[in-house]
Amino acid sequence: MNLRDRLADFPADFATDDPSTLAEYGRDWTKVHTPSPSLLVRPRTTDEVSRFLRLASAENVAVVPSGGRTGLAGGAVAARGEVVLSLERMRRMDPVDTLGATVRVQAGAITEQVHQHCAPLGLTWPVDFASKGSSQVGGNIATNAGGVKVIRYGLTRNWVLGLEVVLADGTVLELNGALEKNNTGADLRQLFIGSEGTLGVITEATLKLTRLPARLDVMLFAVADLSAAVALFRAARKGPFTLSAFEVFSDRCLARLLSHRKLRDPFAERHGYYVLVEAEAAEDLEGFTTKLFEDGLAADGVLAQHGGQAAELWGLREGISESLSATGLPHKNDVALPVAALEAFTQDLEALVAAEYPGFEVNIFGHMGDGNLHVNVMKPESMDRAAFLATTKRLDPQMFELVKRHHGSISAEHGIGLLKRDYLSYSRSPAEIALLRGLKATLDPRGILNPGKILGDSVPQSR
Ligand code: ZN
Repeated sequence: MNLRDRLADFPADFATDDPSTLAEYGRDWTKVHTPSPSLLVRPRTTDEVSRFLRLASAENVAVVPSGGRTGLAGGAVAARGEVVLSLERMRRMDPVDTLGATVRVQAGAITEQVHQHCAPLGLTWPVDFASKGSSQVGGNIATNAGGVKVIRYGLTRNWVLGLEVVLADGTVLELNGALEKNNTGADLRQLFIGSEGTLGVITEATLKLTRLPARLDVMLFAVADLSAAVALFRAARKGPFTLSAFEVFSDRCLARLLSHRKLRDPFAERHGYYVLVEAEAAEDLEGFTTKLFEDGLAADGVLAQHGGQAAELWGLREGISESLSATGLPHKNDVALPVAALEAFTQDLEALVAAEYPGFEVNIFGHMGDGNLHVNVMKPESMDRAAFLATTKRLDPQMFELVKRHHGSISAEHGIGLLKRDYLSYSRSPAEIALLRGLKATLDPRGILNPGKILGDSVPQSR
């Protein structure tokens, strides 16, 4: 008897194999893999997840846990006949505990809806990025998502108190509850954060909340080059405020954005890079900016005068990723470096591309304050798609070699998924990878959970 025949105990709408639905649920935002899941299941309760995984284990069926599928590493792709387990029907949000500053939600709760749920109480879950309107809490946690506020709050990992996780064999674990302090040995909760659904399926989480900031000031500065951006960062670190974002994008990114969308260019002249600074509880901002110009740290600058202008400036930064995809074919990469190495890395990368890949346009933007650059190499107009993809396969290891040489990481915030699994060894030692394989074999001995992601396929499928 196969798995589909054994779903009689589940609600009638639990599973579907409608081809267009499967195509939609089998892909994420990477769009390079052709989706081909065999089935989509949409549980409403943890018990349904547990019973389903027990069955999948018994039948040796591969399962891809699925959130908002906004990832950029292929972590939620089902391209080999897997069953997609979508958490989208599990979006309950409990009342906010204002005393403990926590909220318990199901994994399918949408990030932005969690924000809206907490905001009237003056609280927020400070995990924030451009895809918050469709990304889900469970996916954010499974990928340890980053975003635009990491410099202020750290990664998603820091804002998860408790997790309910279902293991491959159906075992339900309740980890840490709503406790801030719980010093009882190794913290199992952390195993599941960032493991991209390869070790268990997150079904509920108790989120840690923080106060909504009272006022945020947003400034955009124009600088000559990345070295000038680093100098500005040094000054901003010492500024009369708490930095809540320090973002950077190159002039080529801005040019593509402005050619794609009718947005107002805030500057009369072109400059090499632009830096968006968001400051919390700022004092004497005018004194700070005056000194920046006196010291020659910025060539030009704009300070948002009201919320609408602040949103406009943020729109310049947050619209880049989409406009690169709309105006060409970007090969996307997401790397982390020590901030002090950003400039040298970028120079090495541009030299490499100029020498070996003439005609390739390198677009750099990202969360500079976190040392996180999104490197987008654009397909030259004259090159066909297949040739471009083949060429980027040659470029990637060369770029990762540079990342390694500058003591960085081949994935800052997007994860490994399918996209970078062949390159994990650039950022993780053989001993670490062996340990990760051991964990996988212990928690998911049949290898049914998101197989092929992060570690590739060497985990046994059955025994
Ligand atoms: Zn990002």
